[in-house]
Amino acid sequence: METKLNSSEARDIAVIGAGIVGMSCALFLQRDGHRVTVIDPVEPGSDAQTSFGNAGSISMSSVLPTALPGIWRKLPKMLADPTGPLAIRWRYLATLAPFLVSFLRNTARGRVEANSRAIAALINGVFDAYDTLVAETGTQDLIIRRGSLKVYKTDRSFAAAAFERKLLSENGFEFEILNSDELRQLEPALAPIFEHAMYLPQSGGSTNPGQLVRRFAEHFVARGGTIHRARATGFQFTDGSVSAVIAGSQNIAADAVVLAAGSWSRGLARQLGAPVMLEAERGYHVMLAKPPVTLQRFTMFADTQFALGVHDDGLRVTTGVEYASVDAPPDYRRIRALLPQVAESVRGLDITERSIWMGRRPTLPNSVPMIARSPRHANAYFAFGHSHLGLTMGPVTGRIIADLVANRDPGIDMTPYRVNR
Ligand SMILES: Cc1cc2nc3c(=O)[nH]c(=O)nc-3n(C[C@H](O)[C@H](O)[C@H](O)COP(=O)(O)OP(=O)(O)OC[C@H]3O[C@@H](n4cnc5c(N)ncnc54)[C@H](O)[C@@H]3O)c2cc1C
Repeated sequence: METKLNSSEARDIAVIGAGIVGMSCALFLQRDGHRVTVIDPVEPGSDAQTSFGNAGSISMSSVLPTALPGIWRKLPKMLADPTGPLAIRWRYLATLAPFLVSFLRNTARGRVEANSRAIAALINGVFDAYDTLVAETGTQDLIIRRGSLKVYKTDRSFAAAAFERKLLSENGFEFEILNSDELRQLEPALAPIFEHAMYLPQSGGSTNPGQLVRRFAEHFVARGGTIHRARATGFQFTDGSVSAVIAGSQNIAADAVVLAAGSWSRGLARQLGAPVMLEAERGYHVMLAKPPVTLQRFTMFADTQFALGVHDDGLRVTTGVEYASVDAPPDYRRIRALLPQVAESVRGLDITERSIWMGRRPTLPNSVPMIARSPRHANAYFAFGHSHLGLTMGPVTGRIIADLVANRDPGIDMTPYRVNR
């Protein structure tokens, strides 16, 4: 809902970070009539951003947090598998320990269900917020709404997903279970090796997430917004409120600040009074050429834990999670080792690597993003920690941040997204 403020309520607002989350916050704040400056050293939509290289799924199905009941029992096997969904770079273990301890606490069933409800409540508002921004920015050509798939090779892997289906049902999401024949009719590009599938008709995707962020930024500038190309390093405070963001050689005066710097938000959050356990869940993609009969929709392969996204310029293979420090160099061996399994999953797929990329999912131990006012500075807001769902949740986060800044009711209980959780 757009509620234009009168000119005396319009404020100077600084948004730190120009990924999908920061640009969505900037656009919704600008719709309210605020004068907005986005601060980021890199160009919006460039490959340095996690928002560039994600799988492209706008997901109405990913209600599972990463911390799941019993995951600790599966850890040794997962970690030993060179193509498995989870990797830890052991030299970073001491730094990662507090996050991992909190992560394991979040595997208790009651917590998993609460975390899932919090994720689901945000996902529910995803397409309302997307539709608003996509219509205004004229980016319809970058969005597809054909549902998504999760496919299973065996009865066993399908049965193992019963908890996920329970959470989807409990949270009111639609899905259809398909047998192998129904799956072949819906998605002829898939190899005939999948016994079961879950079709999620409400999901969609972006065929070029980097371009989406770039076009959001262009629209923002065309409407009078400012993008300041510098790294934010600190804040100035007046009477307990943030009065400026220190960025490069300049101090950007601000009546309010939104911290949306993805995986790099931790240091700045600490300066704003919030010591957060934010880590980067690093993930990789490889771009492949589209096969002669191509996939039509985002597909998650449950047995091997990779996903294929449908993009303008090919199919994008994305992988699971690697824990290391945010700035550790990439290690492409795992995703490259997975490519033969990708080849078996889609008919006629050529797995010659066209490009390869690594990104950093900003992740809190319970996979629930922080969308909140700072407990210490009333004019500072947090919008980070979207983990595997930042492309999905960027616009809805922007809408909620604009509501919080305007003291409007965001329409959902904000308790799960607060700083002290
Ligand atoms: C392999 C992979 C697949 C994924 N697939 C999906 C998917 O299918 N669907 C989905 O919804 N999500 C997916 N994600 C997750 C999603 O990409 C992220 O959650 C999302 O991009 C996070 O957006 P962001 O704006 O918070 O961060 P980013 O896009 O990383 O942007 C953060 C920005 O902050 C800037 N910044 C950092 N420090 C400073 C500073 N000090 N001052 C100023 N600016 C700063 C950075 O330069 C950067 O531009 C995937 C992620 C990965 C890695």
